[in-house]
Amino acid sequence: MVMVFCQQANGELHKVGLELVGKASELGRDLNAPVTAVILGNDIRHLAPILIQHGADRVIIVEHPLLEAYNVDLHTKALFEVIEHERPEILLLGATQLGRELAPRLAARLKTGLTADCTNLEIDPETKLLLMTRPAFSGNLMATIVCPSHRPQMATVRPGVFPIPTPNPQRHGEIVEFKVRISLEDTLLKLEDVILKVKRDADISNAKIIVAGGRGIGSKDGFETLKELAELLGGTVAGSRAAVENGWIERDRQVGQTGKTVRPKLYIAVGISGAIQHLAGMQDSEFIVAINKDPDAPIMKIADLGIVGDWKQVVPRLIKSLRKL
Ligand code: FAD
Repeated sequence: MVMVFCQQANGELHKVGLELVGKASELGRDLNAPVTAVILGNDIRHLAPILIQHGADRVIIVEHPLLEAYNVDLHTKALFEVIEHERPEILLLGATQLGRELAPRLAARLKTGLTADCTNLEIDPETKLLLMTRPAFSGNLMATIVCPSHRPQMATVRPGVFPIPTPNPQRHGEIVEFKVRISLEDTLLKLEDVILKVKRDADISNAKIIVAGGRGIGSKDGFETLKELAELLGGTVAGSRAAVENGWIERDRQVGQTGKTVRPKLYIAVGISGAIQHLAGMQDSEFIVAINKDPDAPIMKIADLGIVGDWKQVVPRLIKSLRKL
């Protein structure tokens, strides 16, 4: 069995769960194994059909009032009980903040290995082992890791690296309720309050059009021009680590190995050289435009369209043309 933990909050699934269910279906086909999705929470039954439509053969629902809000101790204990009972061959979690907290705790309890932050998963056709690929040595090489002797083979996967499969409303699957034994004695944490933060802009991971700026932009004011272009295109603005470290753009808008992985329809890289750590977060974009004054910048090698020139000349002209449309 290939098991996927699908995180939810306030009755809504995180998209990485759907991405992983899609990938798990591929792995399951290679192994001739079913895909089981697990959801934890309270009053979350409505999520099961969505997971089935996206490729799960079975959905295990774990409902408990103490699982309503996220608590790392209680979520770890509940998931551990499910895994002990089901004994999957493979266990996948999203490499979100929550997944990054749960996965190592589970791996330690299960006495198995964990490959964190994977960017690809495949089944070795000969050994049938899971090949888990992740960037290593600051992203300078991609390491493929196997877990030959311990089970489950466990990986966390970065959100955005796999596409969300097209849902099939005709798909059928099994829905199972699983009762866990958890109580407040299982946790040292006490939740006082949940404060919802309203974000000014949408998460860049879901954006269809991204205008990203790098060190070449030179100032925070420069990013205002990029925002103008992004708004005209119906997109959003992002940045390289250099831009984030200079304080020109917020940290949650960083694209790359230590930032977010994006795969928009259009990615416009302005004044970004294309370091391997940046490419790791955006190279699967559908169409890449690079605006750079250096024709030999590495970003030009992966760009579908390269514009060689000073962005201060190119971007205002683009904005002017778009305003005329
Ligand atoms: P630079 O490499 O300095 O490139 C600036 C570009 O702007 C140049 O190509 C230049 O020709 C061009 N330019 C300058 N002026 C103009 C102009 N007027 N008009 C047009 N073009 C102009 N980086 C990330 O982005 N994301 C990450 O998640 C990330 N994680 C990392 C993790 C590790 C462990 C390490 C070691 C590094 C990481 N980095 C990451 C940093 C990465 O190695 C690069 O240093 C960074 O991406 C460079 O950012 P940049 O392209 O904006 O700047």
